[in-house]
Amino acid sequence: MTAQIGVTYFGKEAKMVSRIQDAGATAQRTRIVILGGGFGGVYTARHLEKRCRRRRDVEIVLVSRDNFLLMTPLLFEVCSGTLESHHCAFPIRAFLRRTRFVEATVTAIDLDRKVVHLAEGSESGELAYDQVVLALGAMTNRVMIPGSEHAFTFKTLADALLLRNHIIERFERADVETDAEIKRRQLTFVIIGGGLVGVELFGELTAFADGIAPLYKRVNRDEVRFILLQAGERIMPEMNPKLAEYGSRVLGRRNGAEIRINVPVRRIERGKVHLPEETIEAETVILAAGIVPNPIVGGLPVEKDKRGHIVVDGTMRCPSRPELWAIGDCASIPSPDGMPYPNLAQHALREANVLARNIYGVLNGEIPKPFVFDTLGMMGSLGHGKAVAQLLKVRVHGVLAWFVRRTYYLLQMPGCGRRFRIVIDWIFALLFRPDVVRINLHSEAALILRELNEDTIPAVDRNHSESGTIEEPQHPTTAMAAAGRE
Ligand SMILES: Cc1cc2nc3c(=O)[nH]c(=O)nc-3n(C[C@H](O)[C@H](O)[C@H](O)COP(=O)(O)OP(=O)(O)OC[C@H]3O[C@@H](n4cnc5c(N)ncnc54)[C@H](O)[C@@H]3O)c2cc1C
Repeated sequence: MTAQIGVTYFGKEAKMVSRIQDAGATAQRTRIVILGGGFGGVYTARHLEKRCRRRRDVEIVLVSRDNFLLMTPLLFEVCSGTLESHHCAFPIRAFLRRTRFVEATVTAIDLDRKVVHLAEGSESGELAYDQVVLALGAMTNRVMIPGSEHAFTFKTLADALLLRNHIIERFERADVETDAEIKRRQLTFVIIGGGLVGVELFGELTAFADGIAPLYKRVNRDEVRFILLQAGERIMPEMNPKLAEYGSRVLGRRNGAEIRINVPVRRIERGKVHLPEETIEAETVILAAGIVPNPIVGGLPVEKDKRGHIVVDGTMRCPSRPELWAIGDCASIPSPDGMPYPNLAQHALREANVLARNIYGVLNGEIPKPFVFDTLGMMGSLGHGKAVAQLLKVRVHGVLAWFVRRTYYLLQMPGCGRRFRIVIDWIFALLFRPDVVRINLHSEAALILRELNEDTIPAVDRNHSESGTIEEPQHPTTAMAAAGRE
């Protein structure tokens, strides 16, 4: 089994072909292509590198649209500014040694030709494989609630930065607003979804508001409202009920915080959330009500479960396409009791190890082995130095859980340098008030455009109207969706 084609980008074919051939792609090599640079993909590449270190006949290629591994459990702290944005991510190139990294977006996979279609900017191309690993993750479920395109999502680093900028801007506007109704809308923040992500975000944002409100002399902290809407009977259904109850108590006591359970959202409109018996007016609506697998997976002619995950066997191999493997949030991997494993980073990390062993085994003619793992526990931050944690059978909450959680994710972050920066950020956050610097990307872009001469403008011309002014920005999430992101 050999790869026939290198990476060919139309328009830059010769350059790109020679670049990939420099990396050593020859007709004698077996190419393993990993799609997705999250926990599943990056760790599969890392484990494969170790196993294949003496196999010069094996080439590993990782494709991802971002050149970093995002530590999602730390994303909340980027939103509040506790962590610098790039400190919760790690460069993939610094993490992998032998793997060829290609920064590009996967647009389709041709299973018959064994070719992945890629795009980067206006260019596109193909990448052939012998074995392919799908680790493309998931995106926020925007199908369930009509009007979801009017809500912010919270899945990527860009999501966190957009939301942070937007929240600070609400405070800025409220500080000069004289109309009480408008001010109320500006200072109402609604989070839809009371699972762990929604709750952690709720905790972080309430704490953030406490920190920044004193800077806004015409904003009284009592005017700021946070509303958490949960369709189910309790928040944090993933956690032990006692811990969820503790979390609910702690968060419910925060200034301006409301937690509403058994409230299914009917519809979202720009600036409005429609509930069965009420409409909440809010300029900030955040959707954290579950995920759906990456749409690339949806387009593949292989078996999927009812939520759209690609169905693989216990070894993470697709039964109808033995050269196709799937892992992490885009896969449905059966546990020994037949139930699929949950979509969590702790699983994706361990699946990666077994998957690398299985692919390596298959190259050597061995039979792959199933993935078996018991969840270690769950942890969730509540902000203000409090958290809940369930570690095997032990339950902890409050400051101890917060400390355990922080230490655990600090150690999960690769690289001593990155860990050191995170610790420095945390120390600063303990000593000083949160930062409210909001970078106005549109005025920055206008400045850059003014300084560029005509020849170089086309590359950055997407927001530039014919009259030479920056076009009015779309609603943030609409703009992101248009760019192919969540
Ligand atoms: C805010 C937040 C907090 C979380 N907290 C926890 C926690 O505390 N504990 C826990 O266990 N889990 C947590 N999770 C869940 C955890 O992040 C996921 O289960 C895990 O990231 C899944 O890994 P993955 O590799 O399958 O997908 P991901 O990590 O999502 O990686 C997918 C990768 O594919 C890339 N990609 C996507 N589409 C394309 C494309 N078309 N072309 C090229 N590249 C593409 C993405 O850029 C990304 O690099 C959290 C998730 C979120 C959003």
